[in-house]
This record gives sequence, C-alpha cells and structure tokens, in this order.
Amino acid sequence: MSAYTDTAATACCTEATAATSVTAAEPLPVLGRDVTVPLVTGGEVAYAALDYAASAPALQRVWDDVAAYAPYYGSVHRGAGYLSQLSTDLFEQSRATVAGFLDCRSSDQVIFTRSTTDSLNLLARALPADCRVFVFETEHHASLLPWGDAQVTYLDAPRTPAEAVATLERALADREPGEGPALVCVTGASNVTGEIWPVKELAAAAHAHGARIVLDAAQLAPHHAVSVQDLDVDWVAFSGHKLYAPFGSGVLAGRADWLQQADPYLAGGGASRKVARREDGGVDVEWHTTAARHEAGSPNVIGVYAIASACRTLTEAGFDTLVAREQQLIDTVRAGLADVPEVRILSLFGDDAPRVGVISFVVDGWNSSHFAAALSAEYGIGVRDGLFCAHPLVRTLLGGESQEPGECGAPEAAPGERSLNAIRVSFGAGTPDEHVDRFVRAVRELVADGAKWQYRTEDGRCVPAV
Ligand code: PLP
Repeated sequence: MSAYTDTAATACCTEATAATSVTAAEPLPVLGRDVTVPLVTGGEVAYAALDYAASAPALQRVWDDVAAYAPYYGSVHRGAGYLSQLSTDLFEQSRATVAGFLDCRSSDQVIFTRSTTDSLNLLARALPADCRVFVFETEHHASLLPWGDAQVTYLDAPRTPAEAVATLERALADREPGEGPALVCVTGASNVTGEIWPVKELAAAAHAHGARIVLDAAQLAPHHAVSVQDLDVDWVAFSGHKLYAPFGSGVLAGRADWLQQADPYLAGGGASRKVARREDGGVDVEWHTTAARHEAGSPNVIGVYAIASACRTLTEAGFDTLVAREQQLIDTVRAGLADVPEVRILSLFGDDAPRVGVISFVVDGWNSSHFAAALSAEYGIGVRDGLFCAHPLVRTLLGGESQEPGECGAPEAAPGERSLNAIRVSFGAGTPDEHVDRFVRAVRELVADGAKWQYRTEDGRCVPAV
C-alpha cells in the first residue's frame, strides 16, 4: 500500500471489515440465511443450503467488504487516477493475503484465475516438454482431464490412505531412469466422499521420486487450513465460490519456474511488458515473468478482493474452531444416516477417515434424483444428486450395488454402464444445526413414509408434478 492510497484504503476496507463480527462458535453469517422457499405441500420454510461442495453461500463479511470497496473500484495496473492506484494496491495486497492464507514460500507466485478448473488448465499449459502426469481415477474431472497431450497415468482407486501412497510410489518408481519431469495431481478432500487425502505423504512420495505435486484444494481450503510449506506441495489451486466468495475468481499458487518458462495462458495486455514492430513487419513481445504473465486482460478485481476477504474472515474465525464445529455437523449427519438401514454412505477409506462436510449416499429403492427432488420440494433442503463431475469414482463406489431405481426416470444407461446416481449433502462454516437436523429428519421420514407428492421426469430430472 503506497502512502498516497493508504488513507482511502483504510477508510474503504478496514471499517467495512469491522461491520460484521465473526465467531466460529456459531455459524458464520452468510447471505441467504433468511431466504424462505415454498413447499409443494403448502407454506414456506427457511431454505437449507446443503450443497456447499458445489458453491457455498457468500460470507456476509465478504459481501460487506465488496460493497464497501465498490465505490472505490477502478482499473488495476493501468490507470493514473487515484482509484486506479488504490485498486491496484488492494489487488496486490489481496495477492499477499492469499499467499499468507496458503502459507506459501516467499518465492511462490499467486496467480488469479477464474476457478480451480481454470487454475489446473493453466498449470497443464505450463508443463515442461515430456512431462508425465499421475492422477488417481478418483479425482474430480477438473483434475482428471486438463492435461492435453501429456502422457497421463490414471491410478486405480485406493481403499486406504496408505494404499494411495503405495500406489503412487509404485507408479513413480516404474518410470525409466532419467525420464523427464513428472507431475502428480491430487485432491485435498474428495468432492464425493469428503474424505481427506494424505497429501503430505503423497507430496513426500512425489518428491522422493523427483516428481512435483499440485494440490486441488477446491474442497479442502474452505474447511481446513492449507499450508503449502507444511504439506510441501509445489502448487495449490482453489475456487472463490467454494470459499464463500462467489465473484468468479480462483487461485493457482506455487513454484514460479514452470510458470515463468511457459507461454502466457492468454496473450494480451497486462501479460506483455514490451511489444514492438520488427523490421520484417512482425511483432516482438517481451512477456512478464511475474504472475502478470498469466493474467492477461483486465482482471476480476472484485472477485480477487472477495477471495482475500474470505481468507481473512476464515483465518480470523479460526480453523481449529471451524473444524471442531463442522465435525459436530458431520457426526450428526453420519449418525442420522447410519440409523436408516436403507441408506448406504459412499466411502473409499472407511468410517474412521478424517473428512470434511461432504457426504454422498444412496437409498435403497429410490432413484437419487427423486429423493433429492423430494428433499427440496417437501422440506426446502437443497442437495445435489448425480455423479458430481467425478464419474469414475462414483461408479467405482456404486460398484455392484443393486438399487431399485424407483420412479422418476433413472437416466438411460449406455451399454455396459450402470446408470445409478448418488445424493450428496454438503455444508460448512455457515450451516446452522437446524439445517442438518432437518435433513436427517427428512431422510428418515422419506424412507419410512415415502414422498408425499407426485414427481415426474423433465429433461432427465425429477420435478414435482403440478
Ligand atoms: N476440484 C474439486 C475437488 C471440486 O470439487 C471441484 C468442483 O466441484 C473442482 C475441482 C472444480 O472447481 P470449479 O468448478 O470451481 O472450477
């Protein structure tokens, strides 16, 4: 922050931040907590947002900070005016906040992207020549798919954290001596089972075999402190909209070398330091070697500011307290589901695995889409059903499970492919106890008594029949 912009920044940012107090003993205030939705059976009920793993609601503090900053908004890295300079300072300060939040090394770069998907695609475009990629089949598609022409080794789903490490060790050891660089991509917490992966051990295995590792922290960062240095990962990626800052920004943070040597992710203004016509009529470009190299175009200043606000708010609330509170919610949901014999929770690592507030399950005799539709229409509870952009994992977990699909159109199965879906409930720092209590009661009642309403299939999904 320059002396020139210091006063206005203090006015616009610190006062707003003080407006909403946060304490992690209670749910953190989020937008939408007073929204009511209609029930098909009549009346209205407070909406229970239990789909945090898709997108978490905005923290009230984030919203307040953004609203307080908005009048001061200006272009970054280009304007001579006061608000441009202020915005540039805040943008760069947000980069430092994110670096602190992730406990990055001082040499790391923090690059602002659109999302985790964007971050991993950026890294994929920065792989050195002949880089091999190792990724478990259990990953989200954002980690499974972006690797382009690189040779990718898909590792089988492990059934314990130790097996994950052993599987990776074996695969890396199989490389020819002197083979080129390698990258391991691993999730911190599964978006299907919520189970936390042994990232530190996987990073040690990767490094022992001369490979690098990128952590997909899309589901971990909103729930747990992530320390790049302690985990010893080379890069980490996450999304603002899962971290209570739904303004279209994401982060890729980590080692600078591969990123500096790669072509810019997007070519254009901001990424280029110097552009000049050549005598032969072409154009010579000198690209930045800082994070700006991969941030061409006008950046999403509000989105970046919102992420930094969320990082500050979660840190202030304290991850130890947040984790302890979330664990109570996890215990309530898991115990409630375990009480219903028709329910099977999906898990790779078993009951004792540490996990975040993401739980997927199937219900005997129910089409998952039908069940999710009834939770919404009859109880005002928003969950997700499907394969959660992790098709290989969910198919592995559903495995030989035989489930009567029930009514409401199970999707057509391709030959040789099972068509069953699962239901996912997910929650976090803004979730009140009442939401998970209502969810557990709703599951019990639906299984015991059936749906109270008729449902029909529309565009492959269950919807209440009017
Ligand atoms: N990785 C994991 C584990 C996820 O759960 C998700 C989204 O659900 C992603 C990556 C992709 O995140 P985004 O859609 O924000 O790019």
